[in-house]
Parts: sequence; C-alpha cells; structure tokens
Amino acid sequence: MTRVLITIDTELSAGLHQQGVSLTDNIAASIDARTAQGDYGVGWMIDRFDAHGLTGVFFVDPMPALVYGPGFLADIVGAIVARGHEVELHIHTEWLAWAKRSPVAAGVRPNIGDYRLDDQRALLDLARGLLINAGAPPPSAFRAGNFGANDDTLRALAQLGIAYDSSFNAAMADTVCAIDLPADAIEPVARQGLVVAPVASLRDIGDGMRPAQICALSAREMRELLRHAARERLSAQVIVTHSFELLDRRRTRPNRLTIRRFEAMCAEIARNPALKSCGFRDFGAAAIVAEASGAAPLAADRLRSLARMAEQLGSNLVYERGLAGG
Ligand SMILES: [Zn+2]
Repeated sequence: MTRVLITIDTELSAGLHQQGVSLTDNIAASIDARTAQGDYGVGWMIDRFDAHGLTGVFFVDPMPALVYGPGFLADIVGAIVARGHEVELHIHTEWLAWAKRSPVAAGVRPNIGDYRLDDQRALLDLARGLLINAGAPPPSAFRAGNFGANDDTLRALAQLGIAYDSSFNAAMADTVCAIDLPADAIEPVARQGLVVAPVASLRDIGDGMRPAQICALSAREMRELLRHAARERLSAQVIVTHSFELLDRRRTRPNRLTIRRFEAMCAEIARNPALKSCGFRDFGAAAIVAEASGAAPLAADRLRSLARMAEQLGSNLVYERGLAGG
C-alpha cells in the first residue's frame, strides 16, 4: 500500500501585495482562486477531494498575519479544518518586509534556509503559533516557501517537535533547496531528528528530475508515476500543488489544462486499490521510514515528455499569452 499525500501550498501572493492589491482581492485571487467562471481554489479542491474520498494536506503560510492581523487566517484555517482536511505549516519569509515588527534581527531574506539556525527556529516557532492561534491543530509537518530549506531547517523543526518536513524537491536541489539528500530520494527518510517526505518525482529526458506537481506533469505522467509507485510498493508519495495553481498566470481565468490534470490525479488515486490517500497525521514516522522500498524513480520516457511539452505549449498559448482572447 502506497500512501499518497496531496499537498496544497496555500498562500497569499506577496507579489500582488507589493503591487498594492488589497487583502480581500489577494484572498480571492490566491486562496479562493475566484474567476468570472467560478472558484477553483481551496473550497473547490476540497469539494473534489470529498467527491473522490480523498484527504487534502494544506500547507498554510501564516506570515501575512504579521501584516494584516490574524482574522483572515482564522477564516482560511477554519474552512479547511471544519471540512476534515489537514492544515500544516508553510512559510514565506518575504512577508517580513511589511511586518510591523521583525521577530529576528537578520531582517528580510527570501527563504527560511537563508537564516541562522536560531533565527530559523524563532521564525518557525512564531509561524507555528500564528497557525495554532488561527485554529489549526499543532502542525505535524512543514514545507518551506520556494523549497528554500537546508539541514538547519530540519534541526530547527526537530527542536520544535515537528515530525515531518516536505521541503525536499529534487528538481530544485541545484538552486534554493539545500537539504542534503540524493536527487533520487522519493520516499520518506529519517534526517536530523525528523522525517523528510520528499516531493515525488520522475526522471525527465536530459537527466533531470521532474516533480509530481500539477503544473509540471501531464495527466499521463502523473498517472504513470502513481502506478509505478504502487507497483514498486513505495512507502509514500507527496504530490504538490498550490491554492492558485488551477488559474492562469495572471490569476484571472481558470486553466482548463491544470483543472483536467487535477481531476485525473484524483480519479487515479481513488480508483487504484494499491494507493491510499492520507495526511501526515494518518501514519507513524518510524513506520513510514521502515516501509521504504528503496525503488528507483520512474524512468524517463522520451515520447511521454514530448507529449507533455506539446500539451504545455498549447496551454501556454491559450492561457499565458491570451491568444484565445477573453
Ligand atoms: Zn509557497
């Protein structure tokens, strides 16, 4: 049985805030993914999860509460918790730029991993407190914004008693993701006093790794990754999306391609008896590490990759450059 964790980074856009967009409009665009054709954000995703009998793990960034106060955060957290899905901790340190008071002397850095260990612990403790005060159960898992974590992040989390980190993304290991794991790490593993649950990934043509993210894999690639995991009896697979990922880049229109991929992923997890959707609270850290299969990631497939590139190109023409009008 392979556990599948569908994780949703749930966050306001610091970019929109910087452009002067109001809190209300930022929530509509980034959390509810509101468009003239309907909402495709957190509420819509939970509807789809419930229809398929799946669990969503929402990594919520509480840092904008330092700018706006805690009220909006309680609304976001409350809506997820009330519907029985999981709220876990996410952090985007760039919000410190607008905080009335900085909790650390080091000031604003783009990633949590850019801070010293004691500052990381202070920021993570602060963020955890904001989330709990907003009505979330004490978080058991964490993901760094931009996957910008390092081994000190793991140490700080362990000191705070957080059992899981999900900040390792092999596709970003050459850039901001500095957690010391091999690129082919695709199952949960014990590190620095906690369990790192890497983002699932497959091998792409050209020797790179490609993450199991809705906007990064075609529906076919996601299905084959999940079937490979089930066949090889991987202990767990972490899939990534964002609260706004089913919209176009300007966050004004639904993106039919990513919506179709999201639906196809839900259907595959629901129908495959060797896959079990769950949250981080649904299994034990020691057990999940012991169940690791050690299997390699899904191998690259030239035709599969080319098909995705063609699909993506078509979608970009429609949704990113506005050639379809409207
Ligand atoms: Zn994020």
